[in-house]
Order: sequence, then C-alpha cells, then structure tokens
Amino acid sequence: MNRTDQRDDRANAEDTRFGVGVEGDGEGDGRAGRPADTFRQLFGGAPDGVWAAPGRVNLIGEHTDYNDGFALPIALPQTTLLAARARTDGLLRLHSAQGDHRITELTVAGLAPGAVTGWAAYPAGVVWALTEAGHPVGGADLHFDSAVPVGAGLSSSAALECAVAVAYDALYGLELTGPELARTAQRAENAFVGVPCGIMDQMASVCCTAGAALHLDARTPEHHGQVPFDLRGQGLRLLVIDTRVSHDLGDGAYAALRAGCERAAALLGLPALRDLPAEGLPGALRALPGELVPLVRHVVTENARVTEAVSRLREGDAAALGPILAEGHASLRDDYRVSCPETDLAAAAAQDAGALGARMTGGGFGGSVIALVRAGAEDAVGGAVTAAFEAAGYRAPRILSAVPAAGARRLWPSPAPPSPESPS
Ligand code: ADP
Ligand code: MG
Repeated sequence: MNRTDQRDDRANAEDTRFGVGVEGDGEGDGRAGRPADTFRQLFGGAPDGVWAAPGRVNLIGEHTDYNDGFALPIALPQTTLLAARARTDGLLRLHSAQGDHRITELTVAGLAPGAVTGWAAYPAGVVWALTEAGHPVGGADLHFDSAVPVGAGLSSSAALECAVAVAYDALYGLELTGPELARTAQRAENAFVGVPCGIMDQMASVCCTAGAALHLDARTPEHHGQVPFDLRGQGLRLLVIDTRVSHDLGDGAYAALRAGCERAAALLGLPALRDLPAEGLPGALRALPGELVPLVRHVVTENARVTEAVSRLREGDAAALGPILAEGHASLRDDYRVSCPETDLAAAAAQDAGALGARMTGGGFGGSVIALVRAGAEDAVGGAVTAAFEAAGYRAPRILSAVPAAGARRLWPSPAPPSPESPS
C-alpha cells in the first residue's frame, strides 16, 4: 500500500470532521469529555487532565525554517486531544483513536531511537527527548483523539508531539517555555522518528495565539512575535484545500533539498542561507553551481516575502497577502520544485475563480493549498477547485475555512483563574 492509498482510507474515516464553514474552535471543557470517557474505558479511572494541540497552516515562509529563516504560520481550530495520567512505575501506555486500535506498552527506560516504530514513535519520542534533556519524567497512560487530518500537510505529527510535550510539562512540573517544548518535540521527530524537519510545525502548534499569525525566526525561536491577523474583521476568509494526495517521493526529496541548501550556504561561506540578504542574491547566484541556483533563489526571496507579509499585516492590510501567496507558490513550483499537479491545479483554479492569492502550504509533494478569498466568495472558489479536480480525474478535495486559533493548552481541568491581588 503506498502513502496515497493510506491517505484514502484515513480520509474516509475523517470526512465527517472536515467541512467548509468551520468557525471558532468549538472547544472548551465540552470537547474534553469524549477522550476522558474513552480513557476511562481503556485504562480504568480518570485522567489527570486533557490537553489540546493544534495543526497549522503556514501563510508564507516555506522550506525556510531549516535554513534558519522566517515563517508565518497560524494554528488551526482542529486539534489533537490527549487525555493523560502520570504513572509511577515507568510504563508508557499509548492509544490513539486514529492509530492501530491497540494499546502500545513501552517502558521509559527502554526508549531509544529505532526501538519504536509506527505512530507510537511520535509520542514516545517526546518522552525520550525529555529524558535525554535531563528532565526527571516517568511513565504515563496516554489516549489521543485528533481532528487534524493526518498526512494532509496540516501537521498532525507536530500536534501529536506537542500534545505530549504540554501534558508532560504539567504532569511532571517541568515549567518549560513554549520554544523549549517545541524544540523537544522537534528533537523527537528528528532523532526518534527520523524525519529531518525544521522547527516551524512545533513552534506553530505550541506558540500560536488566537487571532494572530506567528512571526517565527527559526534561528532564535524564543524571539517570535504575534502578528494580528484579523481575517473576519477585514472581510476575508482563508480556505484550506486538502488535495488528499501525498506522493511517495516526498521523504527522500526533502532531505535532498535540505542538503542542497546546506551545501549552498557552505559554498557561500555563510552559517545558513538566512544570512544571504536579498541585495546579495545576484552575486551569490553567479558564484554557485547551476543546480543550487533555484534553491537559493527560493529561500532568499521567500524570507523576503515573510518580511513583506508581516509589514502588510501590521498595517492592517491582510488582503495584500494575496499577491505574496501567489508569488510564493510560483517560487515553490518553478524554483524549489516541491509542488505537484494537484497542488498546482488547486492554486490555479482558486486564483482563476477570484481568490486574492493561493499557494501550497507545508513541505509539498501533495498536501494542502491555502486560498485567501473575500467573504462570500468561499463557495465560488471552493466549487471551482472541486470542479477542476473532477475534470482532471482527481478525487474531490476537502475544503475548510480556517481561522487563526490558539496554540497547545490544557482543556481540563480548566486552568485556575488568576488569584485576586492581595490588598497592599
Ligand atoms: P502531517 O504532519 O502533515 O499530518 P506526517 O507524515 O508528518 O503528516 O505525519 C503523519 C503521521 O503522524 C501519521 O502517519 C501517524 O504516524 C502520525 N499521526 C498523526 N496524528 C496521529 C494520531 N492522531 N494518531 C496516530 N498517529 C498519528
Ligand atoms: Mg508532519
């Protein structure tokens, strides 16, 4: 079974959770009930708490994080819920409503890269990364239930990892910062799962805030900023179009692209491509071997697009993101070459139907496309993309309307309200 087939199976199970018109995050204590109930059935007794960590879409800044550059993601309202309870015997028991229907039983002491395969490697890797960093953590019973589409380029993997990171932080009183939790989750994915991803997905899942995009500086994640992104107030909508394909060539190609960027930086005598300013681009391109030229051009222009997008948002002009998204897609398609026929068609059909701008989001080779549209144009744009897919013989895409939502948090018990200040 190739990855596309796996996606197809998963998609059928998730159709009911994924539709146009999602508004707000629909969460709160109410949503914590289901995973807590299932937890009781699986493990007996109540969980210590229920946490949520969101998926994300990146507005602009793709393939820049591993070049120490910039990105501008928002968290999605769709989250991975985790009902969790600490254990004192060093056992780690894992179950997911989207997993293999079994409880995976591990020991914290036995965790090592390569020792865990399949989906359980993501959560187990976070526990391993915490122990590696010297944190005194033990075992836990963990049950996951996610509304983040899996393998759709919306970062279900980071949602899974970051749910564990925030839950463990609370269960074991670690008091780590958001960027520290994100780095732990990234280390799990890099060293335990074996995916050489940058830090954007984990930073988005932990550090995003409702109503804002996260201005990420991947070199110093602790210096991130929150940029107001008032879609609704400006009469705009952001469609997320899941193409429902993920092409197999993605995994090896990602590592090759990353290696190409690192080679280019070394040839230019720079720590990372982030250190090449736009003014220096023409000279640098003349000095590089031909095969590295389009990679470097994408990264440098993409970083500039993030800076431009942040300026426009800070001026209160979210509609000005449209042309920036379109340029970003062209750069990923023509220079970085990580788009595919399905994402190219979705972006083109959305633009032709009146979107202000559209681009693939995430690593590429399938996954999702975002389209910025005027309020009221959602159905026309979504319908045009669906019709174009049908005409091309592709499976129908799934489309949702995203709002910038909150990062990872505890849902239950509700965080205590701040205590009243004592009279002076
Ligand atoms: P994306 O992060 O874009 O969704 P990835 O390929 O990076 O795609 O991660 C998808 C993988 O993460 C799945 O194949 C599965 O192993 C794991 N995963 C994510 N969410 C869950 C979940 N709720 N339950 C079990 N496994 C999950
Ligand atoms: Mg992922």
